Amino acid sequence: MLKKLKQTTLQSLKSVGVSTMVHNSRWRRGRLLILAYHGISVLDEHEWNYTQYMSAEVFRLRLQQLKDSRCAVLPLGEAIERLYKNDLPDRAVAITFDDGTADFYHQAFPLIKEFDVPVTLYLTTFYTHYQRPVFDLMVSYLLWKGREKTLDLTRLIKVDSQIGLRSFKAQDRARVAILEFAHRQKLSAEEKDALAEELAGNLKLDYDFLLEKRIMQNLAPAEVTELSAAGIDIQLHTHRHRTPKDRQLFLREIEDNRKSIECLTGQCATHFCYPSGAYDRTFLPWLKESEVVSATTCEPGFASMNADRLLLPRVLDNPALAPIEFESWLTGVSAALPRRRVPAHRVIG
Ligand SMILES: [Zn+2]
Repeated sequence: MLKKLKQTTLQSLKSVGVSTMVHNSRWRRGRLLILAYHGISVLDEHEWNYTQYMSAEVFRLRLQQLKDSRCAVLPLGEAIERLYKNDLPDRAVAITFDDGTADFYHQAFPLIKEFDVPVTLYLTTFYTHYQRPVFDLMVSYLLWKGREKTLDLTRLIKVDSQIGLRSFKAQDRARVAILEFAHRQKLSAEEKDALAEELAGNLKLDYDFLLEKRIMQNLAPAEVTELSAAGIDIQLHTHRHRTPKDRQLFLREIEDNRKSIECLTGQCATHFCYPSGAYDRTFLPWLKESEVVSATTCEPGFASMNADRLLLPRVLDNPALAPIEFESWLTGVSAALPRRRVPAHRVIG
């Protein structure tokens, strides 16, 4: 109901010319809109988690809207430099992708080439070198795929419990139990993959088919090299997709991630994105120490000259945003309207 009201308001603002006025305003000219994406579905991933995945059709519509709105899509590094020099062009936008899931290569990249827009990919590197599904995500996806079934945890994780997976809440309960078991048992990456395969078997799901489609897998090293050579800007997202509160461990995450990216691209990555959007002021001096020049969050908003370079807001685009709502972000009208936050439990990446 509230969403409908918002869309009607935006439509009215558009029809009386307010959107165009804001779009061309000095206020908007001084601001950078950084868009965030994760995966572009190969199968039905956007039905599982719409904050992480969208279909190629929706992503194409977004790129078309960007083009029709005459937005200046800039490379992230240039956009940030020009933001702080007060030298942004009209309607400045930067496009970023998080994680580097394998679908980027076949789903997102062809559209990026077709629309000829610069894109930054924040790459987490552990699963680039370990070409199996990202365990946490795969467990969640499998439980959703098996939502018509009842899961017996007795043999899987030695917990005497049967869970009917119909509701998201029940799937989440099973997910937490499985992840806690893997953590408690200190399972290796290979053991976790075997557990995910066993879970798929219990739910009568074809794990080999999902492997063949590279669902929940990361880009392979050769794909990262090829994408970088083709102009995709590869940047930091930690090696193991985590931000420890311990300085040494935090610095190591950046260092391992940077070394790996440098090895694959020949470039030194200096822009960072907080995994799962989880930022903390404790990290700021450590990021400076690591010579990171910018860091983005998932706090929705526009970046202005007054924003901290290490806490730049980003708009997490998702298929639940109607075209008029997406447009209101491009124009800047959205900044003046109340916003619904994405439920925390839906943000994984
Ligand atoms: Zn991520």
